[in-house]
Amino acid sequence: MTERPIRPTRAEPPDIVELKALRVAQPELAPAIDMQIALVDMQRRVQSRVPLPWIQVDPEWLRAQHQAGRPIVRFRDLPIEWTDFRLALRQTADILLRFEALERADYDQIVALGREGNALEPIVAQWYDRTSGLAESAPPPAEAPAGLDHVLVLALRPFLARSTESLSQQIDLAAWNRGLCPFCGWEPDFAVITPSADRRLICGRCVAQWTFPPLDCPFCGNSDRAQITSFATRDGRYRVYGCDACHRYLKAYDARNATRPVMVAVDSIATLPLDAAAMQRGYK
Ligand SMILES: [Zn+2]
Ligand SMILES: [Zn+2]
Repeated sequence: MTERPIRPTRAEPPDIVELKALRVAQPELAPAIDMQIALVDMQRRVQSRVPLPWIQVDPEWLRAQHQAGRPIVRFRDLPIEWTDFRLALRQTADILLRFEALERADYDQIVALGREGNALEPIVAQWYDRTSGLAESAPPPAEAPAGLDHVLVLALRPFLARSTESLSQQIDLAAWNRGLCPFCGWEPDFAVITPSADRRLICGRCVAQWTFPPLDCPFCGNSDRAQITSFATRDGRYRVYGCDACHRYLKAYDARNATRPVMVAVDSIATLPLDAAAMQRGYK
């Protein structure tokens, strides 16, 4: 056996570089940043193995889905290689446990689910159908471990993101006017204000983006501007929109005067102090 040569360190991806810089600038965020780096790194490794699927979309069907407000990625469209998914599930749970974002008892249950040969697939399929609004499905099982949703969102992301990548090349989203993700039906959990002052919402599950009226609430549809409270950080980099009808809020990266594009993995962590500020004002 010959010894393997030591690999030269490759250039780090820009979001990891930014996260490390953020850790220096705001050391109080270090635990959240370290967890994010571990998650981003794991998801990138899994996603690099997921083939780009070719999802055929019939234009008539697409029009009908858009009109009915239904997303377009069906579970069967996802390029899931179950060995890879099990690994993603296990590693996600490991990371959340390590950073105390998951209780040990729930971790044990989730990891056991991943090991059981036939149990996992229907659980993930039913969860996706239920949470995408794509199909009628059974209510969530009462005995599901706490934190399972969180783990599934993160573990499925590499597979969903590949599907979205494939679809966004062939699909026109101009007819989509909903607050939910046009691809997977999940809620936005971040937004970006573009240099042309549009607001693009970013899906909290598949990270797809879609344009939405800048001052409407994506959660309840409230479009009364008097009922939207919006405030920016002192440096103008980020903005929060609070809805005074449903009391939910959304954070955004303002790219109008920015030196880099939005990076959800970084900006969602950099704005953790804004969550506290929003909650102090009564938003959730
Ligand atoms: Zn989505
Ligand atoms: Zn609202």
